[in-house]
Order: sequence, then C-alpha cells, then structure tokens
Amino acid sequence: MQKNEIYTVIIEDLTAEGSGVCRVDGMTVFVPDTAPGDELKIKIVKVLKRYAFGIVQEILTPSGDRMTPDCPHHRQCGGCTFRHIRYEKELGLKAKIVRDAFERLGKLSPEFLPILGCESRIRYRNKAQYPVAADKDGRLICGFYAKRSHRIIPVKDCLLQPELFSRVTDAILRYAEKKKISAYHEETNTGILRHIYLREGHSSGEMMVCLVVRKAIARELGGLIPVLTEEFPQVKSIVMNVNPEKTNVILGRKTVTLWGSDAIMDTMCGNEVEISPLSFYQVNTPQAERLYGAAKEFAALTGRERLLDLYCGAGTIGLSMADAAGSVLGVEVIPEAVENAKENAERNGIENAEFICGDAGEIAQRLAAENMLPDVIVADPPRKGCDEQTIDAICQMNPERIVMVSCNPSTAARDCALLCQRQYRIVKVQPVDLFPGTGHVECVVLMSREK
Ligand code: SAH
Repeated sequence: MQKNEIYTVIIEDLTAEGSGVCRVDGMTVFVPDTAPGDELKIKIVKVLKRYAFGIVQEILTPSGDRMTPDCPHHRQCGGCTFRHIRYEKELGLKAKIVRDAFERLGKLSPEFLPILGCESRIRYRNKAQYPVAADKDGRLICGFYAKRSHRIIPVKDCLLQPELFSRVTDAILRYAEKKKISAYHEETNTGILRHIYLREGHSSGEMMVCLVVRKAIARELGGLIPVLTEEFPQVKSIVMNVNPEKTNVILGRKTVTLWGSDAIMDTMCGNEVEISPLSFYQVNTPQAERLYGAAKEFAALTGRERLLDLYCGAGTIGLSMADAAGSVLGVEVIPEAVENAKENAERNGIENAEFICGDAGEIAQRLAAENMLPDVIVADPPRKGCDEQTIDAICQMNPERIVMVSCNPSTAARDCALLCQRQYRIVKVQPVDLFPGTGHVECVVLMSREK
C-alpha cells in the first residue's frame, strides 16, 4: 500500500477516538469522520508497518448510522468525535468501549447494565475553558483546539455549552482588545490572557467568570466588572486565576476574587452545593445525578455503615449518601474543594460527614494503620486511576463493598483487576453517558468482598 492510492472500502468498526476502521489487503486503515457501514472512496495519507490512515474522497453509500453534524466546526474541532453518528449508535459504541476495557484489559466478566443515555446531546455542559490567542490580524480569539494539535479553532458558539457562554467570551475578548491585554503565547510563555473559564450552575443559573492570566492584572481587569455584571445579571462571581508556568495545565494555584462571591451555588442530588473555581464539579449535572444515584444503589447502605469517600472533590457523592449512612468521611487533595465539602455539609444540615485534605493513598494508609474500618468505600479517582498505595490501603481496610466511579474505563478495569487479585470480586458495571458527542464515557463498578 502506498500514499495517495485510492480504494473503495466499507467501514467495519469505530475506535474510541471516533475513527472508522476498514481493512484493505490485510492492512487496517483508520479513516476519521466515518461511520460503520459507510461505503467510501478513500485516499491513503500515511502508511505504517501494520496500519495506515486514509481520508474520505467520496461517500458512495452513507451508513444508516451517519447523520449530518449539527455543528459547523465539527471537521476541524477536536472536541466531538461522535457528532456525525446517531446517538443510539454512539451509546452502543460507548457501552462496548466499557465492556472491552473490563473484559479484554481487565480479563473480568462482571454483569454489564444497559448504558444510561443523556436526554440532550447539546448544551448539557455547565463548564467551559476556552484557550485565548491572537489571530493573524491581531484580533483576540478563543475556542477549542483542533484535533491532535494546539492550534485554536475560533468557535463562536459551541453546541455543548450554554448559549450565554459565547456572549460572555465575546464581551471579555472585546474588552481585552480595547485595554490592550495581550493573548498568551504558549511556546514562548509570553502574553497575558491564557484562558477564559466559565461555569454555570445547572439549576441555580449562577455564573462564574474566571480569567486565567500569566501574571496578575487585577487593576486592568477592574473595568471588565461593570461590563459583565450590567449585561449578564447571571454573573455572581468574577475571579482571576494566576498561572505563570509554561505548562498545558490550565489553572494555577492562586485565585483572586475580583468581584462578587468566591464560588457559585448549585443543587446536586437535592443538596445545595457551593463550588469554587479550583474544585472539581461534574460538567453534566442531570447525568451526574444518575451516576451518583447508581453509585448509591450499589453502596446498598442501611443507615449504619461507615462510608469512606475517596477523591471526594466538593463532597457531592458522600453528601448524597449521608442520609443512608452511619457516617461519611471524605478525602480530597485540593484544599478549596475540602472547604467547599465542609461548608456543603453544614449548609445542608448534614452532621455525620467529615472531610480530610490530603493524598488519597497516604490518608487511606493512615486510616488503615489506625484501624479505621469502613463498611463501604467509594472511590472516584481522576483519569489516571488509583495508585497502588491506595489499592493496598483499601484492601487493608477490608470493606464489604467498594464502589468505583470512573471517567476512564481502562484505568478502572486495571484497578478492579488488582482488587480481584486480592479479596474482591467484581459484580456489575453501570456505564453512564455524561459526554454525548465526545469519546468520553463514565462508569460505576460494584466490587464485593468474597465471603
Ligand atoms: N467525587 C468528586 C470528584 C471526582 S474527580 C465528584 O464527583 O465531584 C477526582 C477528584 O480527585 C478531584 O477532586 C481531584 O482533585 C482529586 N484528586 C486527584 N488526585 C488526588 C489524590 N492523589 N488524592 C486525593 N484526591 C485527589
């Protein structure tokens, strides 16, 4: 096979990154923006030893699973990998991604419950972080990165976000231009405005505007306050986050409130919760409630249990289970999130929940050494999963049940496989789609101690 050759193919499968897969002369060829069942004329653009990449030249017969993407930026933007696929098909693919992770990577065979789909494929996010740059005429733009690149595609209105977000980003960019606030330049670590980070409480409608800057410019940003608060009464909090590092981590450690509250409020699983800019908060609130609902069901609490909530963020999961537990102890590494969690407990009159700030593995080791023996452990780690120290401490504490909540099926499967080498067995997995249109999928896993 050689570059620039043209083939007629039928797409057989789709990868988790949204690339169609077909076979040509024994070679696997990946073709982006295609759907299983598509009959296509493709052009080969790159040939490696075992596989190759192609692009669509012509759609001969479109797959029944294909639909016209509703977003004009779909082809360039790296955000939505499944935007051109019917939602039922996308859900089927995501269920398969979860199943494959546990069966193939983890060599586990739990029961798989049907994936919980999302009612809306658009405007379901409550948070966006837009990188800022200058275009070739020096005008400020913001948007999202192109596929596999750090080139910013200016996106006027991303269909995953509230409509209001695009009007707010526009007002900020025009203000920054007027005040000659420069866009950050990644390669040289120069310029000022790095990201515009917005959050909107799903039920409260309260909005936070966070300007991520390379160095503090509180005075220059002062004039933005009346611009935003007069035009957008939803804005309750305007903050500046300072990130001086040459890094692709978005937020720095220092946040300064420029106007209004330090945090916004929202309702999650019936609790009123306060969320600081540095605190993690699930981006799709109604689906997060279903995810936490599944976790609560798996935890099967009877009112007496000691519950340990590892990686608890602002406490959302533990607090949603507190009414059914004897006590809740949350562990989280970000101090602002722990503060939120404590205040969230108090605000909702929850008296049986406590929170500790620290590394999940270290704290879990300490709790195990102190003979703190929880009946149920919930663990909701970041994408990289739990570390071995944490898995070890969990096993030492020997809870009856472990409920693993994860945004990455591969690391969840790896961690569950480690637990299965010890005294646990995997019972069931509930996939939940919090991120329609994108390649991401969440799941909840129930692990049970062997008798
Ligand atoms: N359970 C929460 C947060 C889940 S996201 C919710 O549903 O909202 C994962 C959380 O783990 C984040 O809050 C992150 O700050 C935290 N975290 C990451 N590494 C950690 C570590 N080593 N120890 C403790 N918490 C950690």
